[in-house]
Amino acid sequence: MNIIFFGPPAAGKGTQAKILQDKYGLQQLSTGDMLREEIAEQTALGVKMKAIMDEGRLVPDEVVIEMIANRIDSPDCVKGAIFDGFPRTEAQAEALDAMLAARGKKIDYVIEMIVDFDALDARVEKRAAEEGRSDDTVETFRKRLDQYKSYSKEVLPYYKNKGLVESIDGMVSIDAVTSQILGILKPEAA
Ligand code: AMP
Repeated sequence: MNIIFFGPPAAGKGTQAKILQDKYGLQQLSTGDMLREEIAEQTALGVKMKAIMDEGRLVPDEVVIEMIANRIDSPDCVKGAIFDGFPRTEAQAEALDAMLAARGKKIDYVIEMIVDFDALDARVEKRAAEEGRSDDTVETFRKRLDQYKSYSKEVLPYYKNKGLVESIDGMVSIDAVTSQILGILKPEAA
């Protein structure tokens, strides 16, 4: 079973992915995490991509497509994957479809977490103030939120046309979000 999680930063995608990972053995594949690992390890790619990421821009399609291609055949992905932060462009979505089709697989669900952007903004602002973090946190968050608004407009229609998008309320408790997701996946996962 292959799922795409669609939602803005701070919507709880990571939390929900972890729950599905434990429950169904699906592997979360986050291109953002993979890129941050490259940066932490100071690889040539990481150094190059950091500048782009710091500016809040998207890294080139071929970079993230290759990262996913390198991971998708790993033993931990045998039961399927939860794609998080990927695809962010139509070219990435097409590449992902081709990659899965070549393996006799497909995207089964695209789960869109609907959140109130203003409430999310207030949540991040409050957290930054409480934790004494700089304005950077809020600024970076807003940049990532803007990025989400623009790439979701490009990618969601691609999957809506295929009838794959299931929208859920992402503003409720963690458990309530999980129940909605399980309600969507149940028929296949059971
Ligand atoms: P994230 O943690 O998913 O918000 O990703 C952090 C940053 O990594 C993004 O702001 C982009 O610069 C870059 N990035 C992550 N995933 C992708 C992707 N699928 N396509 C292009 N850039 C990406």
